[in-house]
Amino acid sequence: MKRYRVAVVGATGMVGQRFLTLLEHHPWFKAEALLASGRSAGKPYREAVEGRWALDRPIPAFARDMTVLDADRDAGSVAERVDFLFCAVNLPKEQIKALEERYARLEVPVISNNSAHRFTPDVPMVIPEINPEHLGVIPAQRKRLGTRRGFIAVKSNCSLQSYVPLLHPLRSFGIERAAVCTYQAISGAGKTFSTMPGILDNVIPYIGGEEEKSEREPLKIWGTQQGGEIVLAASPVITAQCLRVPVSDGHTAAVFVSFEKKPSREEILSAWEKFEGEPQRLGLPSAPKRFLHYFTEDDRPQPRLDRDLEGGMAVSAGRLREDAVFDYRFIGLSHNTLRGAAGGAVLLAELLAAEGYLDQ
Ligand code: NAP
Repeated sequence: MKRYRVAVVGATGMVGQRFLTLLEHHPWFKAEALLASGRSAGKPYREAVEGRWALDRPIPAFARDMTVLDADRDAGSVAERVDFLFCAVNLPKEQIKALEERYARLEVPVISNNSAHRFTPDVPMVIPEINPEHLGVIPAQRKRLGTRRGFIAVKSNCSLQSYVPLLHPLRSFGIERAAVCTYQAISGAGKTFSTMPGILDNVIPYIGGEEEKSEREPLKIWGTQQGGEIVLAASPVITAQCLRVPVSDGHTAAVFVSFEKKPSREEILSAWEKFEGEPQRLGLPSAPKRFLHYFTEDDRPQPRLDRDLEGGMAVSAGRLREDAVFDYRFIGLSHNTLRGAAGGAVLLAELLAAEGYLDQ
């Protein structure tokens, strides 16, 4: 595999920091440019993140002395020296849309963690194990943008990575409706315990926009490709409540689900155990060997014990049992800044590379 030169836009943020640790020893990708706002531009990376490096490992050596560039001002020169970019920025939606389209039009494929383009019909929103075929809309998007190689592909919100992967292998039983309550880590808000002291001994019952994303995004992921666009699936109905809890990393979900043809408990466990996707079949570098892990212990999965399973790229489940209102209930868990953010985007980039979308 050729080595691709990569830019990270939003490199100083919570997700950006994760990107750097994942790129440090990546076999296919090499970080070529680190970009952020004008506040960080011009500084060596270590200085730009001084006092806000949030990970429990040191800043990767390659990045420490790299000068942070301005995502707006330096776009043209960066576009000439990278093969694609990752984008994870905190900006109003319209500004993110404009920034991402600008890079795509400069012929740089953009792999985005942001929500701005998730419902643009010809922008694929992909969990690589679930809907890799949605990448098929990229030629139509390139036509709309007037580009030869530039395009935008996005990953979904972090909250739903704790339950959509577990519901997906059960779709053959006809999922009618699902209710989910998510218990979300503070890194999902770009925070640590020192920058969010109000979360200690507390639960915050509101995360702006999260419930709508958790209910609606699965319908695009399970949508179908028609005429160069993704048409949303009509079902299942999903209702969500999203809470912020005092956990550093790892989103937990309590899930309730009903089916048209109620499966046995063994059928559900077997569907989870057997499930594998394109990343496993292709042996992509960041793919977990097994995507879905079921814990038989009653007190698992737990964020602190289980979020780092398979490099934080696996999704875990536990406590599957019958329910008095729905057919079944269970618990899901995924690492929000790895599988749910930077790791999921790196895996998507690997899929795009393996399928030739980064080479044209
Ligand atoms: P964050 O820690 O607040 O970092 C925000 C980043 O955006 C910083 O690098 C910041 O640069 C950069 N930025 C702000 N204004 C900019 C501008 N005008 N031009 C270029 N860069 C600019 O946020 P985060 O948690 O990493 O989240 C970033 C994005 O990922 C958001 O859209 C979020 O919704 C999404 N996301 C986050 C998670 C998660 O678990 N955290 C999961 C999925 C998706 P400066 O340092 O220069 O200000």
